[in-house]
Amino acid sequence: SIDHLKGKVVFITGASSGIGKHVALALSKYGVKMVLAARRRDCLEEIKFQCIANSGGKLTTNDVLVLQMDMLDINSHQKYFDTALSHFGQIDILLNNAGRSQRAFWESIHLSVDKELFELNVFSVINLTRVALNYFNSRGHGHVAVTSSLAGVFGIPYSGSYTGAKHAIHGYFNSLRIEKLHTNLKLAVTLLCPGPTYTEFLQHSFTASPGEQYGISASPTDSRLTGERCGYLCAVALANETKESWMGIFPVMIFS
Ligand code: NDP
Repeated sequence: SIDHLKGKVVFITGASSGIGKHVALALSKYGVKMVLAARRRDCLEEIKFQCIANSGGKLTTNDVLVLQMDMLDINSHQKYFDTALSHFGQIDILLNNAGRSQRAFWESIHLSVDKELFELNVFSVINLTRVALNYFNSRGHGHVAVTSSLAGVFGIPYSGSYTGAKHAIHGYFNSLRIEKLHTNLKLAVTLLCPGPTYTEFLQHSFTASPGEQYGISASPTDSRLTGERCGYLCAVALANETKESWMGIFPVMIFS
């Protein structure tokens, strides 16, 4: 079912590791062209190499664009998008995947952390999405997606800011979908909601205090999705223009 994305262009943020990387690898097998965006250029170059090798000749070096990009540099979003657009001449799907969390007891979260997590997980996402929407409006059709989380649907302990941010994204994206239903813009809006997935994410979530303090292990557990499985499921949901896709079983045991 990913097959019909062949030749389309997908702009993936947070493509340098984890879920974003594995979405790129899954799409590459079907000859989907991609913009790989993140801050770590060396990781992106390596993933570009893997995507081309993975594609069995369907992708050449011009079909995968590495874009070193800090999502927090909101004033440059238009420039980044235009660079990608002038390279490919079209962008079909924007996948807002970059994101991070920080674990802490609810009452101990400093407001500066709330703001940081909202900057990355919400404001940078809606700003880049608005840039894409200007283009999709002129084109008459488009597809915007975000890697949200089960934390966008349920309350998750020790992740108050992150959960709040992912819930906010659901509000923004669900409003967008409804708003565009009866306009000239044919817009697909996808909320990808993985459960815990084994990526660098958990290491990045424990900057404030060790995870053990919250009874959470940063090591892989059987209940966690692999990055590869999650990336594949996200790619399938994108190809099907799924509105909301929940992945994995809510693993109560990692919080207990
Ligand atoms: P990773 O930490 O492996 O990936 C995070 C990605 O975001 C990296 O590519 C990183 O790239 C990028 N990123 C972070 N900050 C910035 C920034 N300021 N500018 C640009 N890129 C940035 O984690 P995951 O793959 O797990 O996370 C991807 C998405 O999946 C996130 O939105 C996360 O909330 C969501 N998710 C994760 C789950 C999990 O359990 N792992 C479960 C549910 C959802 P770089 O550092 O190179 O900039």
